[in-house]
Amino acid sequence: MAKTNQTNQSLNTQQPDAEGFFGTYGGAFIPPSLQSAMKEITDSYLQIREDASFIEELAFLQKTYTGRPSPVYYCKRLSEAIGGASIYLKREDLNHTGAHKINHCLGEVLLAKRMGKKKVIAETGAGQHGVALATAAALLGLECDIYMGSVDVDKQAPNVRRMQVLGARVIPVDRGTKTLKDAVDAAFEAYLEDPVQTMYAIGSVVGPHPFPLMVRDFQSVVGREAREQFLETTGTLPGSVVACVGGGSNAIGIFSGFLDDPEVALVGVEPGGRGPYPGDNAATMTYGKVGKIHGFACYLLQDANGEPLPVYSIASGLDYPGVGPQHCYLKDIGRVSYVMASDRDALTAFYNLSRLEGIIPALESSHAVGHAIKMASHLPKEATLLVNLSGRGDKDMDYVLNHYPIEAYESSQMLV
Ligand SMILES: *Cc1c(COP(=O)(O)O)cnc(C)c1O
Repeated sequence: MAKTNQTNQSLNTQQPDAEGFFGTYGGAFIPPSLQSAMKEITDSYLQIREDASFIEELAFLQKTYTGRPSPVYYCKRLSEAIGGASIYLKREDLNHTGAHKINHCLGEVLLAKRMGKKKVIAETGAGQHGVALATAAALLGLECDIYMGSVDVDKQAPNVRRMQVLGARVIPVDRGTKTLKDAVDAAFEAYLEDPVQTMYAIGSVVGPHPFPLMVRDFQSVVGREAREQFLETTGTLPGSVVACVGGGSNAIGIFSGFLDDPEVALVGVEPGGRGPYPGDNAATMTYGKVGKIHGFACYLLQDANGEPLPVYSIASGLDYPGVGPQHCYLKDIGRVSYVMASDRDALTAFYNLSRLEGIIPALESSHAVGHAIKMASHLPKEATLLVNLSGRGDKDMDYVLNHYPIEAYESSQMLV
């Protein structure tokens, strides 16, 4: 029987330390001008996370607005087609707005409201974080400014329109590469101009302390639910838990439910993209070296001067050159293994899950599904795998049909 999460050795409660470090990763490497604002967020959050009325209000919104708990679902046809281990999904794709990001956005906007802020500010790459934040801001009556590279504004027109319909202001960023990294810088600058009325709301378990802690806490509902649901349905814990890793929020969310169960293998799946060369992937754990980005220390895909390298993945939610500090620590102590799935693995999984289960997964989540399919084919029938299905694939339809048409899939081998 599984242990409870109460021991002194608990990986869940012991970290981060007061300065926001997970081992040597994380921290807050920020300009002096930002320090008092970050301290205000840290102090407020540490107080509010113990506050019964905050916890209650968030739980109420998760239930009545997001639709939690999301189910754990057994993929019978997919598992039988593979002929190995049984694959289960934690259905975060069924949340309102179609992904796990609403979990931390609700928490962040609720915190901002309790702190008396009028506005939340954030960057967005493909627009997924922007849409989730705009949604939470509309729900709770705060203004919302989203900074977005002008290249992304043009590429992601439907998400730009969704944010605008939801009442958010989308501000195109025209400097540098005009993509996510520049949008982060612009959002931080805007926040610095008015930290009294506004709060910065980050999109993953990255950035300076307290964001990796805060976003982890808000996502941990996924792991808590999943552990209980899996035990209830099967009578045991899963053999392995598998999740895709961009910044790492959906992965840490589900892993946190199982960190203190040493018998459960935890597997983070990074985007291997189209190959091992710099600029062709975003596999930070595999190819990165320790460095700093956006105010925290982590494994980083960087050049000889420590500047972040351009990254690429078919899934725009996974193309970040850094990775959450807790993941870096969990890699070093060997608690989580980090592997890669290629663009092709993800595309094949996208179709396999659609055809065999009637579930169209986000391309991000397809990386986790693709790796789970490979694992399952090498495991005995009694083995079980739980995959965090972080989001739904409607947003990816045009891209997939253009790059990997149905005919190409149908003429290929269906399963790896
Ligand atoms: C943004 C996104 C991700 C990647 O972000 P993490 O912080 O690594 O979870 C994964 N899946 C979906 C559906 C996303 O929208």
